[in-house]
Amino acid sequence: MSLTLPHPELSKLHAHAQEGYPHEVVGIIAGDKDQRFASRIHPLVNERADSAHNRYKVSGLTLMRAEQAIEAEGLDILGYYHSHPDHPSQYSDYDRDHALPNLSYVIVSVMNGRAVDTASWRLKEDRSAMDPEPIHTVPNASNFKSSGG
Ligand SMILES: [Zn+2]
Repeated sequence: MSLTLPHPELSKLHAHAQEGYPHEVVGIIAGDKDQRFASRIHPLVNERADSAHNRYKVSGLTLMRAEQAIEAEGLDILGYYHSHPDHPSQYSDYDRDHALPNLSYVIVSVMNGRAVDTASWRLKEDRSAMDPEPIHTVPNASNFKSSGG
């Protein structure tokens, strides 16, 4: 299983992570759940002002509204992304503790203001760890052939 990201959306994710540096940024990854095709990167505002460099928080209401808008367009929530300013794209204990099953957690490592590495993680069933998920990039969203369902 891999997560497929069109190059323009990956660029958008990297741009968001770089703009937010040295703070963490966070957002939603939406698209087609069955194909694991991430056609939409939806940036959110990090509301964790006290420690925005290494924590992120989005209010439940903000998140719910964003997810409702995405689902109203017929897209599925595939997971979430956030950045690690001046840290590797390895998940932290905090990330694992706050992860939900069956979702992708994409982490962008931003070193000195530049997005240098991107990894996707999925929580193991026993919640003991997260497994790396390969990210497959395609030139653009038109490379996605809908199953028509
Ligand atoms: Zn993290």
